[in-house]
Amino acid sequence: MSNIRFEALKSAFSHKPAEVEVPEGRVKDYFARDVFTREKMKEYIAQEVLDQLFDDVDNGRTIHRDIAGVVAIGIRKWAIEHGATHFTHWFQPLTGGTAEKHDAFFTLDKNGTLLEAFSGDSLYQQEPDASSFPSGGIRNTFEARGYSAWDPSSPVFLIGDTLCIPTVFVAYTGEALDYKTPLIRSTAALCHAAREVCAYFDKQVKHVHANLGWEQEYFLVDEALYNARPDLMLTGRTLMGHNSAKSQQLEDHYFGAIPARVLAFMRELEYEALKAGIPVRTRHNEVAPNQFEMAPIYEDVNLANDHNLLVMSIMERVAAKHHFRVLLHEKPYAGVNGSGKHCNWSMETNTGINLLAPGKNPYQNLQFITFLVNVLMAVQRHNGLLKASIVSATNEHRLGANEAPPAIISVFLGKQISAVLDKLEQATAEEAIIINAKKEMKLGVANIPEILLDNTDRNRTSPFAFTGNRFEFRAVGSSANCGAAMLALNAAVAEQLMLFKEEVDKRIEKGEPKERVLFDVIKKYIVACKAIRFDGNGYSDEWKTEAAKRGLDCETSVPLVIDRYLAPDTVRMFEYTDVLSKAELQSRSEVKWETYVKKLQIESRVMGDLVVNHVLPAAKRYQTMLLQNVLAVKQVFSADETASLNEMDYSIIKQIEHHSGAILEGVERMTDARHKANRMPDERSKALAYHDSVLPLMADIRAHADALELIVDDEMWTLPKYRELMFVR
Ligand code: ADP
Ligand code: MG
Repeated sequence: MSNIRFEALKSAFSHKPAEVEVPEGRVKDYFARDVFTREKMKEYIAQEVLDQLFDDVDNGRTIHRDIAGVVAIGIRKWAIEHGATHFTHWFQPLTGGTAEKHDAFFTLDKNGTLLEAFSGDSLYQQEPDASSFPSGGIRNTFEARGYSAWDPSSPVFLIGDTLCIPTVFVAYTGEALDYKTPLIRSTAALCHAAREVCAYFDKQVKHVHANLGWEQEYFLVDEALYNARPDLMLTGRTLMGHNSAKSQQLEDHYFGAIPARVLAFMRELEYEALKAGIPVRTRHNEVAPNQFEMAPIYEDVNLANDHNLLVMSIMERVAAKHHFRVLLHEKPYAGVNGSGKHCNWSMETNTGINLLAPGKNPYQNLQFITFLVNVLMAVQRHNGLLKASIVSATNEHRLGANEAPPAIISVFLGKQISAVLDKLEQATAEEAIIINAKKEMKLGVANIPEILLDNTDRNRTSPFAFTGNRFEFRAVGSSANCGAAMLALNAAVAEQLMLFKEEVDKRIEKGEPKERVLFDVIKKYIVACKAIRFDGNGYSDEWKTEAAKRGLDCETSVPLVIDRYLAPDTVRMFEYTDVLSKAELQSRSEVKWETYVKKLQIESRVMGDLVVNHVLPAAKRYQTMLLQNVLAVKQVFSADETASLNEMDYSIIKQIEHHSGAILEGVERMTDARHKANRMPDERSKALAYHDSVLPLMADIRAHADALELIVDDEMWTLPKYRELMFVR
């Protein structure tokens, strides 16, 4: 009998590093080759049209249809010259990932003559068959169809023969059905609020935008082994598998050289990403075997997020060419590190000042402290929401395990900044801010070192860490659309800055000096946001108790965390900043629950199939062999001799019996629990039932299956093992 695992292994070992066709030239020769950049637009579109377009884009105004018409002609010409035959509106549905529907660049006229077609309308707006995308009831509620509309702030680009147009996806009544729409709204809110606060310090600031630098972690697995693991194929993670004797204990993978086959994959991936205008710069091994990371140079958050989504799909495509599969799941393997997507976030002015970096003069430093403290306040007020923005059925397995941040949001500041805040808290206004005779401001105790010590790698378990000139939101999952987390953060900070300004202005209007008022309010905030600051060990039980005492959100059940989207504070904040309406929040939480249910439903079914079709047959076959052996031994040896000879066989036979029985019973109970959950009246109760009753049963079944893996003859085991999945490359 053939064993699919051995067939897969044979095939995996035959996979050699692929030839990579990356041109010898320098990166600047091909960077953004497939992107219709502003520079290239000048060759195809009249300057006065472009002036209008860029002005509208940079100021967040809607593009006029006439402008779109002219731009479309230029885009079409460029795209066709570069081999495009199709175009697609490229959008980000709430299911995750991206969606596209391709149309050819031609149409037929009345006489059946072929016409090149791609008008302003095709650029501007499309109506994909939206009914198959989740809307969490919005379309029923508003009887609205969905359409996708051009986002001119993110450039169009080519993937193979297809022109991709980044778009938002909204209902006809205007409600967002995607991640991009509210992300754009949130940056507008943040830009406005931050600019107003900057005005206290620097009147030159006309514009503020948020930056995002993501660090994408992922696993690679050989394609043949992947194909022999139905759980990886259908759920993206292993639902069972005993730990490999060697996994990440030695941490040798982190420091090790990148294996040749992986390096070939990475080189091609980087080439493809660079051609698409994604400024990828960093690549390295991660902690777990076969785990890696790539990171670009940070960009404006909307563009950076498009680029992250694009990279995820490029990764999948390139991996296939190298006989790899890329695993973007947060926890493909139990017991080793999971994958996250650290989101490095900062705010920057049009004058080039990073608002989260200490400055060169007292005003810039006070401005830095102001923004820092306001971010702390925002994260504290909305820590529950920020957690809701990153939880999912997949990230659930990662949080709180193997160096991943725990499921309680807190902020790590590091020694230096903590010391500055502590000093300010103790100081009087006179000590902190000195105005000299020439009316110049100086900072007294609030003095901040211009260069902060490198904070980067300390306390890797903190979910939200200050790293010298930015915050790093580390709880975000590797498969997530960063937009969900970024829009929540942008909006929360925007609201906080608006509240800050209101408070400060009220007192300035009464005639108090500006510097004094700023100091007073900042000092008050430093006291008020103490609960969110935590530099210690996030895994300790003391922290869990302490965090609860501090009033931080300690809920770990994903379906309950999703409730935070509808908490009164959340709704008020999103409405105040015009980022999401209550109806949109309702629809988003519905989609989150629904997705959670579907993912668990699939996992549970796959689990049932795996144990019944793979694990139990192998176990039974081995048990039969042992039983036959016992009988044979009895025939050959005397009763005295067999008593001790058979001991080991008996013990294994009994263990197999025990685990197999437990698995069968477990599958029955799990199936019942699933049916019960499916009958629940709404998505939230379904999600709760899956979380509370199906998930624990899956864990039980897994424990027995993993125990069998250790006992059963290796030659009979049909599922590739952890050591093979993680070490073959
Ligand atoms: P690490 O955090 O592992 O030390 P890096 O220093 O390379 O990694 O930075 C990780 C990411 O943070 C990169 O995408 C980088 O561009 C981004 N980054 C650096 N500075 C900022 C900033 N001011 N705002 C946003 N992202 C930033
Ligand atoms: Mg980092």
